[in-house]
Formats: sequence, structure tokens, C-alpha cells
Amino acid sequence: MRVPIVAANWKMNKVQAEARAYCRRLRELVPEGFPVELVVFPPFTALGVVREVLGGSQIKWGAQNAHPESKGAFTGEVSLPMLLEYGISYLIVGHSERRNIFGEPDDFIAKKLRSALDSGVCSILCVGEKLEERRAGKAREVVERQLAALAGVSAEELERVVIAYEPVWAIGTGVPARPEDAQEMAASIRRWLADRFGDTAEKVRIQYGGSVKPDNAGEYLKLPDIDGALVGGASLDPDTFFAIAREVAR
Ligand code: PEP
Repeated sequence: MRVPIVAANWKMNKVQAEARAYCRRLRELVPEGFPVELVVFPPFTALGVVREVLGGSQIKWGAQNAHPESKGAFTGEVSLPMLLEYGISYLIVGHSERRNIFGEPDDFIAKKLRSALDSGVCSILCVGEKLEERRAGKAREVVERQLAALAGVSAEELERVVIAYEPVWAIGTGVPARPEDAQEMAASIRRWLADRFGDTAEKVRIQYGGSVKPDNAGEYLKLPDIDGALVGGASLDPDTFFAIAREVAR
């Protein structure tokens, strides 16, 4: 049994006061023993507040990014040892905005994943094709190239990796992938994992991400290979985020 996981990627949103109000509300909403793992990804500047409010609850938090090196001359970057001071449990790796806006290549993303695993942190590894790649029939090829970040990861370490299938054309557009397309890709990801990691593939949680809302979340979560959602826009309001998580719990 894979425990479903729903994550809130706030991206570059919320100052500390907003983060505090959000987390207080989310804590109020989530009942004890809620059967879905919830993870909030604030910007770096709100990690302290998030830890203060969510500490001691079942809601986890993580960082949206980290540099693979632990320290050094990397102006503007933040490392995993720095983030561990904020009690993070997760790191997002390979988000399409990092890949496409900031030009992060696959090998750099693989180094981040390695660094997160070495630090004992779980990762959400995001993969997904662009619209032109899907139209050219290359979606699977692109996703498999991105999954190659898992080379050198052991089966034991893989249990600390969540894969988020996020077709780039569905992110922030209000046009989600059709559930059957999401399932087809998730099943193909699981087969790819099974070929390399054997039975451990069955333990890996695969999220769908891209314009998930309370009214469509249930569609994805009933699919056999999808175990949760990575949510951007609709996660910015705690009630909406929890409404998605409740759909997943049903
Ligand atoms: C995301 O950025 O990971 C995402 C899925 O965004 P949205 O839910 O807004 O499409």
C-alpha cells in the first residue's frame, strides 16, 4: 500500500505573515490521523515560520530548491545543510520552471537529487514533456531521459524519492492532462523503474501535477499508478489545498 502524498508548491508566493496564516489554517483543517501525507513547499524566506507553525503536526514541509554543493562560492544559492536547519523533510528536484526558466540541465538535477539523498532528505523528482514534445510523439523519451537522474540511486534510496509526472503544458494553464494520458505515463514510469529497481518500483509514489483542483483531483487519484498530486496555483489557499487532499483521501 502506497500512502498518497499531496504537495503544495507555493513557488515565489507568500511573505511570512501570509505563510503563518496559511499554516495555522491548514493545521486547523487537517484532522488527526488524516490518511494522506501532506507537504508544503514555501519559499526559503518562510521556512522558519512554517516550521514554527507546523512543527509537531503531521504536515511536513520542504524546500523548492537547493544547490548540490554544501557550501562555497555560489552567490544567491542555498545548500541542503542550510535547509536542514529548518527541519525540511523534502526537496523538489527538476521542477519544469527550474529546467526551463533557469536552464537547469539533467546532470545538474541529478547532482541535486544525490545531494538530497545523501542529506537524508526525501525528494520529489519532477519529470514531464513540453507540448511540442508530446505532439512529436516524444513524451515518453523525454520523461525517460529525465528519469536518468536516478542512475546511481540504490533501491533503498529510491524509497525516499517521489516522482511527479508534470506535463509542462498542463502547469499553471488550467488545462490538465486527460486522466488516461496521466495514467499511461505513470504506468510507463513504473515499468521503467521496475526494469531497474525490481520490486521497489511498486513502493514508489507517482504524483500527477498540472492544473489540479478540488474538482478534478479525484479523477487522478483513482488511477492505479497515481498516488498523489503536486499542486501549484490551487495550493495557495489552504482550504482549496485541503479540499484536494480530501478528494485524495476518499
Ligand atoms: C506545479 O508548479 O508544480 C504545478 C503543478 O502548478 P499548477 O498546479 O498551478 O498547474
